Amino acid sequence: MLQEFGSAAYWLETSHRSPKPAVRGHQEFDVGIIGGGFTGLWTAYHLLQAEPGLKVAVIEREIIGFGASGRNGGFAMTLLDMGLDQLLKNFGAQRASAAHRAVAASVTEIGETTAAEGIDCELRHGGLMVVATNRGQLERVERDLAAAQTMGLDGFERMTADEAQTQVHSPTYVGAMFEADCAVLHPAKLAHGLAELVERMGATIYEGTDVTAMTEAPAPRSTASTKVRIDTPGGSVTVDQVVLATNAWAAQTEWFKRKVVPLYTYVIMTEPLSEEQWDSIGWESHCGIEDKRNFVHYYRRTLDGRILWGGNDGVIHYKGRIAPRHDRNDGVMNGLESSFRRTFPQLSNIRFTHHWGGPVGITINFIPMFGTLLDGRLHYGLGYNGHGVAPSHTGGKILRDKVLGVRSDLTDLCFVDSTEPAFPPEPLCWISAELTRRSLLRQDSNFDAGRGSGEMDPLLLRVMRRLG
Ligand SMILES: Cc1cc2nc3c(=O)[nH]c(=O)nc-3n(C[C@H](O)[C@H](O)[C@H](O)COP(=O)(O)OP(=O)(O)OC[C@H]3O[C@@H](n4cnc5c(N)ncnc54)[C@H](O)[C@@H]3O)c2cc1C
Repeated sequence: MLQEFGSAAYWLETSHRSPKPAVRGHQEFDVGIIGGGFTGLWTAYHLLQAEPGLKVAVIEREIIGFGASGRNGGFAMTLLDMGLDQLLKNFGAQRASAAHRAVAASVTEIGETTAAEGIDCELRHGGLMVVATNRGQLERVERDLAAAQTMGLDGFERMTADEAQTQVHSPTYVGAMFEADCAVLHPAKLAHGLAELVERMGATIYEGTDVTAMTEAPAPRSTASTKVRIDTPGGSVTVDQVVLATNAWAAQTEWFKRKVVPLYTYVIMTEPLSEEQWDSIGWESHCGIEDKRNFVHYYRRTLDGRILWGGNDGVIHYKGRIAPRHDRNDGVMNGLESSFRRTFPQLSNIRFTHHWGGPVGITINFIPMFGTLLDGRLHYGLGYNGHGVAPSHTGGKILRDKVLGVRSDLTDLCFVDSTEPAFPPEPLCWISAELTRRSLLRQDSNFDAGRGSGEMDPLLLRVMRRLG
């Protein structure tokens, strides 16, 4: 068992910012962004970069970074779909490569913007080592490498078991792939730094403000176009256009209740390692590490010498419920601890000091969804399937173009304005999502036991086809 816990996500404990007041009375803006995570903040940033005079409000129910953006593993990486191989199969070389390149550009731009704007989010651009811990996972690594070649992508390298184990001393690695385009960062420092940046650029941030309804507002006499009224407990905000950036919480709206399922995902964090402990595992660079399970294990170093370890399993609650009591889960925590100790037996005595989790938005085809509703007045970007740190930066640019009515290479990406399949209504939604989760986990265990191939589980594919 873990010996000691932080009361909140480590990131939110180690980054501080005074929240801004809630909406009071009646306010007017050009654009209202709902959700103060990376999607909302990057949208505000890109909009104000493009049009400095725009009146932009960011409206957050809790505090900036309260959602997945303040709680994640901090991997800014290119992952879309289940991996490059699936992305290629689903969209073909040209569209898959355009989507991958757009997110890879975001990994670089997050580094450039934070450096230029003085946001110290502890970003280290050390790449990503994708390790295989069994034959089935190794096949997946090979498929991704082949897909990278077909898509004409640079920056991917095959690593033998010896090379992987020399880099990071885990006896579990049977091979790996290194991808150059990945950075690790302190997510709450990024969210808080971005909030301060967009305020300096002219945005208004409201916190502690629950958006309870959005309705069409009558057009003022001077213009023919209608507006949208955003209702909150303390007042209302009228805007020309709305950006919905609430990710997993979007499942609580009529629009998205069958398009996005909230899945809780969890991490644990060690105490700071001693020098001897670091020597025992090597891992001198700040590369992030991920395996090729369906429910990946992902792990990274922090600047104060800890290891964050996440993944292993996820939890979907009936009717997609999101509640603070789900922010930790003892069963998942124990599974995380066991998998950590299997990977690094030399750290058998390490203590874990933190455990937390949060909801991410899962879509039926495992790629994000961007689009427009309400006759062009509401734009949404959500459903990153648990890896939105870099894609939300790309998403901010897509949403900027949508708000400004600009058609661009970004608004033509494969996950923009597509017709996403829907989950069935409850209770079938929960049952099918749970079946899918179990099927993915079963395939992970089969791989560990040396059974099965690197292809997706046939049962899962049947379930997904039926749902689609
Ligand atoms: C434990 C964990 C680890 C993860 N690790 C990684 C990782 O290493 N790399 C990676 O790429 N991704 C990771 N992710 C996923 C990543 O964090 C998300 O994809 C990303 O942060 C989504 O950002 P967002 O702004 O779209 O949503 P969120 O950050 O979830 O923000 C949505 C916001 O909307 C607000 N909101 C909801 N409803 C309302 C309302 N009615 N009114 C006002 N505000 C509202 C919420 O309070 C919330 O702050 C992880 C997620 C978790 C939970």
